[in-house]
Amino acid sequence: MGTDTEYVRWLESLDSTDVAAVGGKSANLGVLAGLDVPVLPGFSTTATAYDHFLEESGDRSKLEELLRDLDPEDIADLQQRGAQIRHRLRDASMPPELEESLVGAYEELADRLGVTEPAVAVRSSATAEDLPTASFAGQQETILNVSGESELIEAVRDCYASLFTDRAIAYRERQGFNHFDVKLACAVQKMGRADLASSGVLFTLDPDTGFENVTVIEATYGLGELVVQGEVDPDRYVVFEPTNGILEKTLGEKARRMVRRDGGTAVERVPTEERTRYTLSDEQIRTLSTYATQIEDHFDRPMDVEWLLDGELEELFIVQARPETVHGATDENVVRTYRLEECGEELLEGVSIGNAIGAGRTRILDDLREMDRLAEGDVLVTEMTDPDWVPVMKRASAIVTERGGKTSHAAIVSRELGVPAIVGTDRATKELRDGDEITVDCTRETGRVYGGRLDFTIDEQTLGDVPETSTDVLLILGDPDQAFSLANLPVDGVGLAREEFIVTSHIGSHPLELIARGEEETFVDALQTGIAKIAAAFYPNRVIVRLSDFKTNEYRNLEGGWKYEPDEDNPMIGWRGAARYYDEDFRDAFRLECDALRRVREDVGLDNIIVMVPFCRTPAEGKQVLEVMDEFGLPRDELNVYVMAELPSNIVLADRFAKIFDGFSIGSNDLTQLTLGVDRNSERLASLFDENDDAITRSIHSLIEDAHRHERPVGICGDAPSTIPGYTEFLLEAGIDSISVSPDVAVETILTVAELE
Ligand code: PEP
Ligand code: MG
Repeated sequence: MGTDTEYVRWLESLDSTDVAAVGGKSANLGVLAGLDVPVLPGFSTTATAYDHFLEESGDRSKLEELLRDLDPEDIADLQQRGAQIRHRLRDASMPPELEESLVGAYEELADRLGVTEPAVAVRSSATAEDLPTASFAGQQETILNVSGESELIEAVRDCYASLFTDRAIAYRERQGFNHFDVKLACAVQKMGRADLASSGVLFTLDPDTGFENVTVIEATYGLGELVVQGEVDPDRYVVFEPTNGILEKTLGEKARRMVRRDGGTAVERVPTEERTRYTLSDEQIRTLSTYATQIEDHFDRPMDVEWLLDGELEELFIVQARPETVHGATDENVVRTYRLEECGEELLEGVSIGNAIGAGRTRILDDLREMDRLAEGDVLVTEMTDPDWVPVMKRASAIVTERGGKTSHAAIVSRELGVPAIVGTDRATKELRDGDEITVDCTRETGRVYGGRLDFTIDEQTLGDVPETSTDVLLILGDPDQAFSLANLPVDGVGLAREEFIVTSHIGSHPLELIARGEEETFVDALQTGIAKIAAAFYPNRVIVRLSDFKTNEYRNLEGGWKYEPDEDNPMIGWRGAARYYDEDFRDAFRLECDALRRVREDVGLDNIIVMVPFCRTPAEGKQVLEVMDEFGLPRDELNVYVMAELPSNIVLADRFAKIFDGFSIGSNDLTQLTLGVDRNSERLASLFDENDDAITRSIHSLIEDAHRHERPVGICGDAPSTIPGYTEFLLEAGIDSISVSPDVAVETILTVAELE
């Protein structure tokens, strides 16, 4: 343990009770040093040191005078006063006792590290920063790669002055903080060699949706500042905390990296060959996630963490941790689902932040001085925002920026403000026209800007005291992009995740085409990720994943599909479902599906998956499919496999299917089509397509009876209970075990079931 003084405290002597003494950042570093996570050695100056500096050298009364009656919206006046204050502080000399303490601690650190003049990072730690609900990232200075005593002293003084940047002054005015109640300490730590490896940020939840069971890591080469500032497109890794399995890896561009140079830093180009590699190994991703979980457990709330990989030591270090302020601070019991009700001309794409939709008149601002042009409800379009822009961002109905990633200032602040934003569009200020009406859709992973003010709806579901039901209510959900935001719905899992949805939205190519091109890994990887995200969102509840059920005409629409698919007269009753999996012409593609499922179970550890076979015409076919699955790494005895009950043969021979499969799920769409002989796509026959027809309701009764005799559960995953009033009542009377519905009617269905039970 190092020697503490009135002005300097060693990190390991600090804990959460020291926020007033050394600021939030240093106190948190102290807490981290006490946990089982690696922290770089160092010390912190104290708030007393700062006060002492102001009294002795800064002439506090003069500063007070400069800040009197300030109007933070009067930018010109603010800039002028801010500059004067900073000038005074930078020019002031360091009181001798303070200088002595600082230099003494620096020498002690040098001794510890066994080097002279070690390079350190000097980070501002304000006493009112990093508190829940009041964090705007990056307000005060961080000075990297500082070596030598006089450089250290200068860096500390620069940090002090940074408490009086224009934006910091304005922020305190607006939040109602007294300028001298906030004090500044400096965390001084050994510089890790991230310049030789990588660094980044992580959140112990999904910052977009608030889903808590994941850690989201962003990683880039070199020092982490570029990620924090949103200047670089980082790799992104999503780890499922309960199993520490990797759910998703997205390769970022990582075009530039910040490195050490000449007692400071420089930004350099990353060679193409390095850009196409992930910055972290899977093992490093998992290690980082275990650190994140420890930190989250200790602070007992979602956290926002900076980390680095030291290229010399090949070790990971935690550099900073603070409460995540968007979801951590609110108790969210309302699920708001935005839905675009109209199509429009797509103008731009980018990274979507939040899950909302906004529309309004475009205001392209090149400079903050133009801020008055943006009226309440306009859409802010600009190159990039920084904290100075917050007042403008607050007035906007949506934000579109050219630069920035998911953790850039624009992104963090937009989330905090609840304003939908699309960042990283690259060319928004050129492509959009000032004054035009646009709609900004952030409901998908890719944010899209449409021309015109399109109609959208907001569906609010209030959670809270939703009753328990003995009949399970499950979701129909095939879109992995929506899984995390729906994870809070009080359902018992997912009753139908259609693989086709994942293939269309995240792959787009026919699996056999990808095999032919030697790109089968693309297919397996994307399918694995899609399935894993849905399974993770509802873990440990069951998630029923249905094997692919494209019809030939649908497969033909995938890239390269025409080469592999026959042109059928009746695709609805053609080569679909089970019949494909054991067919020589499709087996290879089916192997990829099995591979994805196997990896989700084995590599990610999601054992809550039930596999479901669609369109299985005969028991013999069912057996064949199970054999092929076994051959492809999905052994029958280790897995629950259901069959869809959607053909009359499934009903008539239910007792035989029951001997082969572990359960049934009624596909009322196909069952109605095939029992009544009504094409489900025909508008002309729509009135004859009736799930309430006696032929259907009797089939369902009969299936449930037969299945239950064989102790097999029966659910339903067709659309009937989501769309037909009274169907849920019929199903309960018939003795169904679970009902799957679309997300928009989930809570309503739970309430209905509870009432009927
Ligand atoms: C059904 O047939 O009811 C069903 C759920 O499957 P799909 O709609 O995908 O054919
Ligand atoms: Mg079907």
